[in-house]
Amino acid sequence: MDFLPVFLDIKGKRVLVDGGGTVAARRVQSALKAGANVSVFDQNPGDEFAPLLSHDNLTIHNRLPQASDFDDVIIAYGASEDPARDKFLAQTARQKKILVNVADVFEYCDFITPSVVDRSPLVVAISSSGTAPVIARIMRARIESLIPATYGRLAEFLGGFRQAVADKISSTVDRRHFWERVIDGPVGDLFLAGDQKNAEQRLLSSLEKVGKQESKANTGEVYLVGAGPGDPDLLTFRALRLMQRADVVLYDRLVSDDILTLVRRDAERINVGKRPKNHTMEQQDISQMLADLALKGKRVLRLKGGDPFIFGRGGEEIEKLGQHNIPFQVVPGITASIGAASYAGIPLTHRDHAQSCIFITAHGKDGVLNLDWDALLRPSQTVAIYMGLSNLQQLAKEFVAHGADPNVPAALIENATCSNQQVVIGTVKTLFDEATKAKVKGPSIIIIGDVVKLHSQLKWITPTQNDTHAMSLQAQKRL
Ligand code: SAH
Repeated sequence: MDFLPVFLDIKGKRVLVDGGGTVAARRVQSALKAGANVSVFDQNPGDEFAPLLSHDNLTIHNRLPQASDFDDVIIAYGASEDPARDKFLAQTARQKKILVNVADVFEYCDFITPSVVDRSPLVVAISSSGTAPVIARIMRARIESLIPATYGRLAEFLGGFRQAVADKISSTVDRRHFWERVIDGPVGDLFLAGDQKNAEQRLLSSLEKVGKQESKANTGEVYLVGAGPGDPDLLTFRALRLMQRADVVLYDRLVSDDILTLVRRDAERINVGKRPKNHTMEQQDISQMLADLALKGKRVLRLKGGDPFIFGRGGEEIEKLGQHNIPFQVVPGITASIGAASYAGIPLTHRDHAQSCIFITAHGKDGVLNLDWDALLRPSQTVAIYMGLSNLQQLAKEFVAHGADPNVPAALIENATCSNQQVVIGTVKTLFDEATKAKVKGPSIIIIGDVVKLHSQLKWITPTQNDTHAMSLQAQKRL
């Protein structure tokens, strides 16, 4: 390691910045944020300084710095891009034993300004030791996306209990274990999910139990997580974080393998997938299992396709948990029709074609479709249908029987967002035949409405060979 990483307390101390351009403004901004008194030297500071001018701790001198300006300075930054100014700054600072950093001039740098991920009070600083600042910046962008924005607030929140925990737990190692359980467990989860009150209660009760027998018999928790329609890139950060923390996962048939591989490797996997007419597991058994596992102290992930609260029976599954005081949280996922619409280039609403969109399930009981036709067949409305494939023929007939124009455009998107996505385009009248020709079997969303016309213009995924729409376009071109 060529440099020692440290975080300096510069509150109330003097920082000198030589220069008035973009880099100088950035140095000034960071120093002010960290509470320093900043003196800037430049004849003509640029526009970037405008928002900083009113800051109480900033003084601008419209001249070059002199040796006497360095008195009581703790850090001197050179950002003038003028070699003579840089040299004077570095030499004077070093004579006076002041730490100096001149942008992009390595020989005049006693320290490096790192790339920073700021989730104050949590701060991550990255440096490539001066070799490749761009790599440090790219890494910063990655880390930015990994650390939830609320982590800073979590650190602040936990900071409020630091003394109480130190008073109660004297051993450093025990204290560290306590904090690990808090941050990586229900307290951290509750706080990050926005429930500060319960997070606080839970933290205090865990602290209360320290050293007592019952702390060993901790209740686990349940995460009801929406895994989206299939493409793992569509998972939320929170979903991924909880997937990597779970001890056991109960998943559905609709959760793709690509997503399952992202669950913590040593988590136990239980397939509770339901196939039509071949229920692997009853709904109430799933609920019971979630409760039983959590009561044993496990962190239980219930992973569901799409969004758990859209035709997912997520509500029923977690009803029992409240009765047992088992903590749980629900993480939304991208529901299949939203994923299908985007990946097929069919906007569900559009100023010229549809002002509303309705989500329905066409999963009829005993072959009878029980739909509210008045609500469905409204002008300028898109209808997105879940679980409609097995009833497609009957569904189309009933649409027409209830007054729909048989020539309204209709689309079927099979395996939406997955690499084997297939889009079938037709009309209410023809969609069933087209889908039969295309041998559709997988999970499918049906979209009915004028917006389907936009697919030919807005599709952006290269269609698979089976895409009947693409095939008919190719056929037209050939003619
Ligand atoms: N909770 C889920 C829906 C579960 S119902 C969600 O929010 O998406 C199951 C139905 O969802 C399937 O019959 C099918 O209509 C639809 N579906 C789920 N995943 C799909 C996918 N990748 N492509 C197309 N339809 C899908």
